[in-house]
Amino acid sequence: MKLLCRQKLAFLAIAVLASIGAGCGQRTTVEQPAPGQKSPATRLAAVRELGIPSFKGKVTVYYSAGYEQRARELCVLVEEAQQFYEDHLQIKAEFTVAVLSRAGWERVAPEMPYGLPSVSADPQVVLLPATPDGVVVEGALALRGKAAAATLAKIEQAGFTFEEGAEKLIDLIGLHELGHVLTLAYGIRPPSRWSNEFLASYFGYAFLREKHPELANLFVAMTHESGMPRWRQTGAHLPRRL
Ligand SMILES: [Zn+2]
Repeated sequence: MKLLCRQKLAFLAIAVLASIGAGCGQRTTVEQPAPGQKSPATRLAAVRELGIPSFKGKVTVYYSAGYEQRARELCVLVEEAQQFYEDHLQIKAEFTVAVLSRAGWERVAPEMPYGLPSVSADPQVVLLPATPDGVVVEGALALRGKAAAATLAKIEQAGFTFEEGAEKLIDLIGLHELGHVLTLAYGIRPPSRWSNEFLASYFGYAFLREKHPELANLFVAMTHESGMPRWRQTGAHLPRRL
């Protein structure tokens, strides 16, 4: 960032604002369902039944009330990655994002621990936590004392404290979830869990490496190098059919 001239910074600011305005734009609110309605058949239906607001750009983002700013931050990153793969591989991905607080999360995905991002089967919904008090951040923070000095240095060089990196990890795993969507949208049917996880992370990492290299370094430092918990490696955040 410090290498950018003022003109480029201004352009970047305009581009970011434009992406927020154009891409992550119009807000709507879904009506509450009638009481006593039966359980929804899909995650998307369950999200809609929460009666929470949403905004629509390249992707529709539902968010728990009070977390619009967080939802828009995530939307900017997800849509940038989505556009990156549209430009590079002509992938047209259809999916929805839900940024939920704990209460909404437990209604939509009670099988998932709060804070662990995931993607559902069709219609695909990428589920992300609205707050950092979930298993991913807790798990990452627990690794702080075990991280090697080189890993801590890499996190610092990326511009983050360990605690900030632990929270940012949510966004980066969000890109991994988008990677699952892109894998399928590109026509790849991974033959195994490990190849599915590899491809999802590769989509996320390759985008970060080119567009946000400091976040690519953070991603590696906070996951591979710090010894991420095993649930990240087993595909526990995926529906069975993926
Ligand atoms: Zn995955």
